[in-house]
Amino acid sequence: MAGLTPSLGNPQNTIEILNKYRFVFQKKYGQNFLIDSHVLDKIIRAAEITEEDYVVEIGPGIGTMTQYLAAAAKGVTAIEIDRALLPILQDTLQGYDNVEIINEDVLKVDLRKLAEEKHGGRPVKVVANLPYYITTPIIMGLFEKYVPLSSVTVMVQKEVAERMQAGPGSKDYGALSLAVQYYAKPYVAANVPPNCFMPRPKVGSAVIRLQTYEQPPVKAKDEALLFAIIRASFNQRRKTLQNGLSHVPELGISKEITAKVLTEMGLPASVRGEALTLEQFAELTDRVLAYRQF
Ligand code: SAM
Repeated sequence: MAGLTPSLGNPQNTIEILNKYRFVFQKKYGQNFLIDSHVLDKIIRAAEITEEDYVVEIGPGIGTMTQYLAAAAKGVTAIEIDRALLPILQDTLQGYDNVEIINEDVLKVDLRKLAEEKHGGRPVKVVANLPYYITTPIIMGLFEKYVPLSSVTVMVQKEVAERMQAGPGSKDYGALSLAVQYYAKPYVAANVPPNCFMPRPKVGSAVIRLQTYEQPPVKAKDEALLFAIIRASFNQRRKTLQNGLSHVPELGISKEITAKVLTEMGLPASVRGEALTLEQFAELTDRVLAYRQF
């Protein structure tokens, strides 16, 4: 909706609209509204929104980022759980005729179907200042349910952004790093301090862009087993891979099998999950398949 200039994204107008509707912040919904136009510009730039794009926004709040998105994209669907924000959104988004609001818990929305209906099944861009209490289920839900995505650009807790982009050997490397990197290439576009939000969160934040792959960078014969192995490997961080995997009997991977596979791969028997790359986890999964005890 070119032509309209976003009016929110600063403390004065945010306070004014909150007072007008006597809005009460709901802590349980992770409500921290952006009040800094520079950060909003950065998010829109990192997401590379063009007039061709259809955007899904999760948690529009009072519509601050929604205004920016609507001004840049072809269309926006924003999903907001808090009913109290609906009259506010109607007010702040009047004049933008390319925005639709859905009042629902995002975890209950069929986003695949939404992309089909709104954009003919072509990839959509997800952009959000996420509610931090459900960051991981939202992001993993997008990937695992195969929502057609071209990118996901989101504000998350700084530590979570670090975990998403960490590689082997780093203290932040774990199951989340591998799960995200199986589907997308992460890139931290900005660090954002608490004073850019109202109310201020207790933690630092970061904008991360996840550029989704058309094909996963590795090919495992059994994707579900790959992720089960990854989870088991990081369940007990200080354990060796041999002990970690044998600790989960449902996997059917004894210490002996792991030892054999590690030797085949030229890895030491004492190796820990945190030392393995995604490629190595995929190779390990394929090799384990040949020996599994069921
Ligand atoms: N986008 C706004 C901004 O940047 O100012 C608000 C971001 S705020 C961090 C997170 C928003 O997500 C809130 O508006 C909150 O009510 C909403 N929210 C929380 N849980 C949700 C859920 N399960 N489904 C949809 N929206 C949710």
